[in-house]
Amino acid sequence: MKAAVFQGVGKMEVKEIPTPVPGEGEILVKVQACGICGTDVHIFEGAEGAATVTPPVVVGHEFSGVVEKVGPHVRGIKEGDRVSVDPNDLCGCCYFCKSGLGHYCEHMIGYGTSNNGGFAQYCVVPYKQVYKLADHVSFEEGAMGEPIACCLHGIDMCEIKAGSTVMIVGGGTIGLIMVQLAKLSGAPKVVLLEPVQEKRELGLKVGADLALDPIYEDVEARLKEEGLDRIEVVIECVGLKRTMLDAIKYAGKKSLVMLFGLGHPNDEIPIKPFEVFKKELTIKASFINPYTQARAVELINSGRIDVKSLITQIIPLEELGEALANPEKRRGCKTIVNPWA
Ligand SMILES: [Zn+2]
Ligand SMILES: [Zn+2]
Repeated sequence: MKAAVFQGVGKMEVKEIPTPVPGEGEILVKVQACGICGTDVHIFEGAEGAATVTPPVVVGHEFSGVVEKVGPHVRGIKEGDRVSVDPNDLCGCCYFCKSGLGHYCEHMIGYGTSNNGGFAQYCVVPYKQVYKLADHVSFEEGAMGEPIACCLHGIDMCEIKAGSTVMIVGGGTIGLIMVQLAKLSGAPKVVLLEPVQEKRELGLKVGADLALDPIYEDVEARLKEEGLDRIEVVIECVGLKRTMLDAIKYAGKKSLVMLFGLGHPNDEIPIKPFEVFKKELTIKASFINPYTQARAVELINSGRIDVKSLITQIIPLEELGEALANPEKRRGCKTIVNPWA
């Protein structure tokens, strides 16, 4: 099969490797779509990020496809099923798994990080890692299961109450998923901060009520004008120091700040304890997607979340290296790789 193999920092090689064979409890997925994630860019650049990777390995953890073959002792999944993959495989036996904190599993396997993943024509995963897609859902939409699942874990922790005003900082793929999840969680007003005009427009299209440019607009004045000067939840989806500080700055009294965007491991931001005290701020962060993939796929299957609008382009495996190396090549929102293109 054809695969894009990560060979070390800055090196992605498309080559023929043996098609894996599903063992006990495993299935062979014919990959149809695999999204490029910020984590893939971090891996490619050799930055310490959300995952530890030892090359050579096939990366790509946001994928969907068709079940090509099933191994022994597989239940409820058959050849031909269209599925979205949860790439994070928990052992189920360690202290954290048994305590409902599987994202801290001591023996976690990550398809597309520790083990071969979706930037290839086929991938073997345990059958418990897949969720069925509805017939009308495209594979590109199905590949968005993992990012939506990560956002669900984060937004669950935001405890949005019906009627709360929510601000989303950053209108990339994650920010625009968060806009929609905030609406679904009962926020009547969602404000998006995003410097790029096309992304602000996309934000309004997927449900934001107000989209502001944090660089050229006076955000505080505009919020006041719109009667939105009491932000109860702020979700930061960029991971830059400046945007994290913005999130804290615009957070209202008794509000919650979710630092969802992944910062550099050594980044530090100055927080004024007095500001935290005055506003009784709660500051949280969110790590991967424990137990949320089923709900993510429900949202995709039911059409309650618009992921189609977030897909900017579909590229072949041969263009993956370039897309990872050059931010211009992955402009807009989601870039998806089709290994059969
Ligand atoms: Zn991802
Ligand atoms: Zn475990």
